[in-house]
Amino acid sequence: MKTLLPTSTAGSLPKPSWLAEPEVLWSPWKLQNEALTDGKQDALRVSLHEQLQAGIDIVSDGEQTRQHFVTTFIEHLDGVDFENRQTVRIRDRYDASVPTVVSAVSRQKPVFVKDAEFLRQQTDRPIKWALPGPMTMIDTLYDDHYKSREKLAWEFAGILNQEARELEAAGVDIIQFDEPAFNVFFDEVNDWGIACLERAIEGLNCETVVHICYGYGIKANTDWKKTLGSEWRQYEEVFPRLQQSDIDIISLECHNSRVPVELIELIRGKKVMVGAIDVATDRIETPEEVADTLRKALEFVDADKLYPCTNCGMAPLSRQVARGKLNALSAGADIVRRELLA
Ligand SMILES: [Zn+2]
Repeated sequence: MKTLLPTSTAGSLPKPSWLAEPEVLWSPWKLQNEALTDGKQDALRVSLHEQLQAGIDIVSDGEQTRQHFVTTFIEHLDGVDFENRQTVRIRDRYDASVPTVVSAVSRQKPVFVKDAEFLRQQTDRPIKWALPGPMTMIDTLYDDHYKSREKLAWEFAGILNQEARELEAAGVDIIQFDEPAFNVFFDEVNDWGIACLERAIEGLNCETVVHICYGYGIKANTDWKKTLGSEWRQYEEVFPRLQQSDIDIISLECHNSRVPVELIELIRGKKVMVGAIDVATDRIETPEEVADTLRKALEFVDADKLYPCTNCGMAPLSRQVARGKLNALSAGADIVRRELLA
């Protein structure tokens, strides 16, 4: 990456209202069959266009072709029964009705590879593609087959590796694994969670990211955050092992959050996607606020390793707010870029 402070988003962006109901998660599609396939591609084009217009350097599909960042991937696998649902506690935080693992899990066909090829055809910019991480996947399921979180996570790591290799071959420059579960299950993260991620990236030549956040701005998450006290030190539990890992880039929540910024020192040497946009509020940051967050992070990240980003996905926001936030991210990064080059 030659650009200094290349900007990107954590992943999801709002969908157009003709494709799915706006500002909700798991929103059902409004189109069917071929019209849906076309609609998803059109939405991807629009999402890409908005990122380019805002001056985002590393672009994505805005997750326009998936309903949800975890379940859409799982829906394409064998061994998971979506009719057979159980209520489980997700991220140790809220109850949800989830599908059941009923037999050995496997991937019979690519999940996102065609979408990634389509995005690749639309732009020469570097592209980033997000996949769910193994630990976050097992945390969104009821397991009636392996009866072991660790065993199931290793199976998913192998499956993710198949998908990641094909995404790389499709021209994806950066593959990201979303692991909000890393902020909750610290012992498991250190025992096998990070090792599973390393299995998922085995043999890849493209860059790899793990995204660890405090979630979308939904009520279950904002309620949880209220219980975390004045300093959020969750990252401290997993950073030392992540610093030693094969993952190239760590994507973090920083802006407006109670994460002490000096914790970034624990991953010194890694590239860091610094969340400089709060996704849990409709208030649009000023460029100066973004710049301020980036300047603070620069005390702990070398400038050539800092990637300005959003705290998390922006799917639940309105399109107008998301556009404003993309522009603010770009303008804020530009302020700091000019300071660094002055
Ligand atoms: Zn996130």
